[in-house]
Amino acid sequence: MEKPGHDDGMSPTFCSRCAIELHPGAGDSYQITIEAVADPAPPVLSSDASREGLRAEIDRLMDQLADVSEREALDQVHRRLVLHLCVPCYRQWIENPTP
Ligand SMILES: [Zn+2]
Repeated sequence: MEKPGHDDGMSPTFCSRCAIELHPGAGDSYQITIEAVADPAPPVLSSDASREGLRAEIDRLMDQLADVSEREALDQVHRRLVLHLCVPCYRQWIENPTP
């Protein structure tokens, strides 16, 4: 089962919960895409005074980001995961996706 490199579309897919083998095209599985974005709302500015604080906050964040790679910085604000679930696992998961 060691096939590093590209996905040729024929490699087996397994349920992310129970690890049963899935058969794409057979209708026995669900593909779930999870997109996580760090608070997408702009910062709330209530007064001029808070702008001073924001400036300092931005400087602090820039200092922090300088310590991590661009890739890691991006991962902190945006992650995209793709899961495959068999039908029984999907039915359980979709009712309670955040146990
Ligand atoms: Zn399953």
